Amino acid sequence: MRLSDTLSSVGGSATMATNAWSTSHADPIALSMGEPTVPPPEAIRIAIERAMVDGRTGYGPPAGLPELRDALAADRSVDPASVVVTPGGKPALAAALRCLLDPGDEVIILAPFWPSARDQVVWARGVPVIVAHDDEAAIEAAFGPRTRAVILNSPNNPTSRVMPRAEIERWVERADRRDVWIVSDEVYRELAWSAAASPADVDGGADRTIVITSFSKRFAMTGYRLGALFAPPALVDAVVRWNSTFVTHAATPIQYGGIAALTEATEWAESRRDEYRRAAEWLGPRLDALSGVRCAPTEAGFYFWLQLEEPGRSSLEVARALLEREGLRLVPGEAFGVEGALRLAYPIARPRLEEAVTRLERFFALPLDVRKNGED
Ligand code: PLP
Repeated sequence: MRLSDTLSSVGGSATMATNAWSTSHADPIALSMGEPTVPPPEAIRIAIERAMVDGRTGYGPPAGLPELRDALAADRSVDPASVVVTPGGKPALAAALRCLLDPGDEVIILAPFWPSARDQVVWARGVPVIVAHDDEAAIEAAFGPRTRAVILNSPNNPTSRVMPRAEIERWVERADRRDVWIVSDEVYRELAWSAAASPADVDGGADRTIVITSFSKRFAMTGYRLGALFAPPALVDAVVRWNSTFVTHAATPIQYGGIAALTEATEWAESRRDEYRRAAEWLGPRLDALSGVRCAPTEAGFYFWLQLEEPGRSSLEVARALLEREGLRLVPGEAFGVEGALRLAYPIARPRLEEAVTRLERFFALPLDVRKNGED
């Protein structure tokens, strides 16, 4: 008996793959995890425990608890009827794609991209069309008769770049002209230093935009599995039916934790963001000063995108050499569809980050041929 051919080509996370690389280094440091290392705020744990003790643990509505939909709607100043709660941002994206795509429909994805976005399109029996985010001519050429949607991701994983409002407006104009949907992955939105524009908030954008959001990064709730999407009515109806068929809803006590997050812990989340910003302001210049590395300032928590000037070596090889020599795990650009770059995730304790930078400085100070051959 054979499995679907789709299974052999997609799935698995780039971060997990990098974390599985073995190293003989005595003290490895993971700069590969897109995950806060602090626990979520107390209020969330207390609300979840209380829901469990009180027995609020049964099935609920497939769109999510009304109080949570209200809190999500208030958080973004939208109508609660446009909100569907999901067990994380990934299922929100999966549901949206499954509802939008017929087999063979194309989805434009901008590189560098979050690998699961591309893989999810394939799982949904769609066809990802990858195009460089800054190549206007290639972007226009990427549209065809089967294009159904474009996935935008601002702030971006892996670069932490925030799309300027004018660029978002151009995307809305383009989507309107081509009559396609915009799936806007905004799971890092609240970690941006200054307000990140959403296509849903731009004139003409709301009717064709599905916003994906998540509690994972903002409230450090990665393992709790809680997210949501905001969409026009037809899509909301379809996603509620998808939820009902595939996941029923996000775990009920966790949804109570979500209500506490949005009503009691937004200040905590803002202070975390300020912490990421302070770390980025300290880290950015140090990274940009590395020999053979260019590094644009980061505009949101919590990644840096290091562009390598290393002729003749793939970023995969550089990532492996960094792990072997210095015990540093970074994710190579290939995972995000771009050669010659590394993603550095920095939501880790400051002393470890300082140690990591010292090692990066040592590594990139080595002459290129030494780094290359792995010998002193
Ligand atoms: N979108 C992006 C760009 C991400 O980086 C992630 C997680 O790494 C997600 C969505 C999904 O997050 P979750 O499923 O934990 O809500």
